[in-house]
Amino acid sequence: MRIWPFGKKPQEQKVIDPVCKMEVSPSAAAARSDYRGKTYYFCATGCKQSFDKEPQKYVTA
Ligand SMILES: [Zn+2]
Repeated sequence: MRIWPFGKKPQEQKVIDPVCKMEVSPSAAAARSDYRGKTYYFCATGCKQSFDKEPQKYVTA
């Protein structure tokens, strides 16, 4: 097993919950939604529901 230089494994890349702007890890996200071919992750199902209602409000073109 390889030892990483700083004793840590590389961190999973965090993504931003578009509704509340919180950082979430995709693997730990409470919910996710696909919109225009992109996957968005949410900290809570409430955020996903807000997003699904009006995705265009949270996603800037
Ligand atoms: Zn959220």
